[in-house]
Amino acid sequence: MQNLSPSIRHLRDLIAIPSVNPMGRDDLPPEIVGEHAVAEHLSRALGKLGLDAALVGEGGRTSVVAEARATNAMDTLLVASHIDTVPVDGMEIDPFDPAIEDDRVLGRGSCDTKAGMAALLEALSRVLENGRLARNVIIVGEADEELSSIGVHDVLKHLGSRRPDWVLATEPTELCLINAHKGVVHTQVCAHGRACHSSDPTQGQNAIVLLAKAILSIDESARVFTDRPHPELGPATLSVGIVHGGQAPNIVPDEARIWVDRRTLPDETPAIVQEQIEAAIRSAGVESQVVVESCSEEKPPLHTDASSIAVGATADALAREGLSGDCGQVAFGTDAGVFGRAGIPGVVLGPGSIDVAHTSREFVPIDQVETMVRIFERVLEGAGGPR
Ligand SMILES: [Zn+2]
Repeated sequence: MQNLSPSIRHLRDLIAIPSVNPMGRDDLPPEIVGEHAVAEHLSRALGKLGLDAALVGEGGRTSVVAEARATNAMDTLLVASHIDTVPVDGMEIDPFDPAIEDDRVLGRGSCDTKAGMAALLEALSRVLENGRLARNVIIVGEADEELSSIGVHDVLKHLGSRRPDWVLATEPTELCLINAHKGVVHTQVCAHGRACHSSDPTQGQNAIVLLAKAILSIDESARVFTDRPHPELGPATLSVGIVHGGQAPNIVPDEARIWVDRRTLPDETPAIVQEQIEAAIRSAGVESQVVVESCSEEKPPLHTDASSIAVGATADALAREGLSGDCGQVAFGTDAGVFGRAGIPGVVLGPGSIDVAHTSREFVPIDQVETMVRIFERVLEGAGGPR
């Protein structure tokens, strides 16, 4: 292992510190849950580069923020590389003892997305050393990307009125430049009926039957999405993901509930989603018993203009590495969308493939990590600006 490059040594160190997002579960070993330990490690690593890092967030859900300032900075970039990972149930490899096989690094978080942060650390080290830093860079390792992005909100609060000009969020895109993805809105719909003994159902009102009428109407309401596809992202989608209801076969149920997963286009908000679902409930004629209980945006959609500095700088850095700077789209949500909701345009880029993220054999190809180091170097040295 002596011949590992600095970026791969950083990556192995980061994987070896568990930072599992509990994602609402309480059955996980406490020693692998939360981002605090990896945030502290990053704070020390940034300190070795001469940067003061702040730790923000509560309850072990810690994010790390630091800034490197350039003289005569052309702009301010924020690099967001989330430090949480999904849980490790059923993994075929040791999730926290990163092995190297076939020019890949294996381990939980290897591609999603500790490789992004590892590449950034090494690029920063090179550029601070050669004195060619051309932009201010806010380095963020944020908690909780995998669930509700509390890390981004903690970081924005910490930054106060200071706002970067643009954001680069690292995620496994196989080094493709991503400027657009759909958003995710989760809606909970509840039917309220009246319970009674099932031997005489006429005495009650069956919440499951009421909800069933609403479900069919909500599902049907998604048909129109194909009439107005987004030119790059395609149509919005809707899926009823969970249904709960009833206590026993011999009780007419008084309550039943569904959760609806809605993938939104850039011009759609949670309010629009809620109105559409309520309209579907009305058209089923059950609006007095079936109501939307909650409607929350888990990840906002992303659509960054191709003429923005975010796209221009990243595309230029990719081109200088002989890679395509064309914009693409992904099917998953990212924290770039959360920064976008806050008015900061952003792109998504990083080593590794989403196809192996969250899997039992997560890995990242070493050559992509090394290329990402050079892409970051070029961005930090002013790619996209006047040459
Ligand atoms: Zn990720």
